[in-house]
Amino acid sequence: MEKDRTKQDQANKASLPPRKLTPVKTLPHSFRPRGTFDISQGSNRTLIALNVVGAIMFVVFGWLFLKIAIPLRPELADEILLIPRNMLRFTVLCVVATVVMITLHELTHGLFFWLFTREQPRLGFRLFYAYAAAPDWYIPRGQYFVVALSPLVLLTLVGFLLLWQLPIWIVPPLLFGMLMNAGGSVGDIAVILWLIAKPSGVLIRDIGDSISIYGLPPTE
Ligand SMILES: [Zn+2]
Repeated sequence: MEKDRTKQDQANKASLPPRKLTPVKTLPHSFRPRGTFDISQGSNRTLIALNVVGAIMFVVFGWLFLKIAIPLRPELADEILLIPRNMLRFTVLCVVATVVMITLHELTHGLFFWLFTREQPRLGFRLFYAYAAAPDWYIPRGQYFVVALSPLVLLTLVGFLLLWQLPIWIVPPLLFGMLMNAGGSVGDIAVILWLIAKPSGVLIRDIGDSISIYGLPPTE
C-alpha cells in the first residue's frame, strides 16, 4: 500500500513539468512530441535559403569583424594588401583555420552539452559536416539556446583575443576561420529562431541529424 502510494506520487510528480528545469533522461509522462527540426529532410528551397543566408552572414560578419579588427591591429590593412603575393601560404592557412574552427565549433557545443548533462556528448566528424549531440538527454530550452549559440559567441571572442596578440601574418587566415565559424552558425541560428516560437517549458532532444522538442499537449 505504502509502496503503491510512493509509486502514485512518483507518477504524479513525473506528469508535472519539472519545476526547476534541468536536463533529464526520462521524459515526464505527460510530455508528447511537439515537433522536429531536420535540415537534411528540408526541401531544396530550405537548403538553398540556408546556404544563401550563410553566405550573407559571411559577408556581413566579414565587414563587422574588419571594423573591429583594424583598430586592434592597424597593420592589418597592409597585411591584407600583401595577400596576393603570398596566395599559396594564405590558402593553405585558410584551409587549416577552417578545419580547426569546424573542430572547435563542435567541441564548444560538446563542452556545453557536457556542462549541462555531465555526460560525454556524441561528437561526429564526417567529410562534409560535423556534429555534437546529446541523444540520451532532454534539455530545457534555455540551456539549449546556450549550447546552440556558444560557438558563435565564444569562438568569436577568443578569436578577437588571438587576433589582437598573434603575429600579424596569422591574422588574415584567423579572420577567415572566424568567418567560417560565423557563417557556419547559420544552422544553429535557424534552430534558435525555430525554438523561440515554442513554449518555454519544452525539452529538446538533439540526436545530431535532427532535434525534436517535447512538451505538454496544447490545451484546447
Ligand atoms: Zn553549430
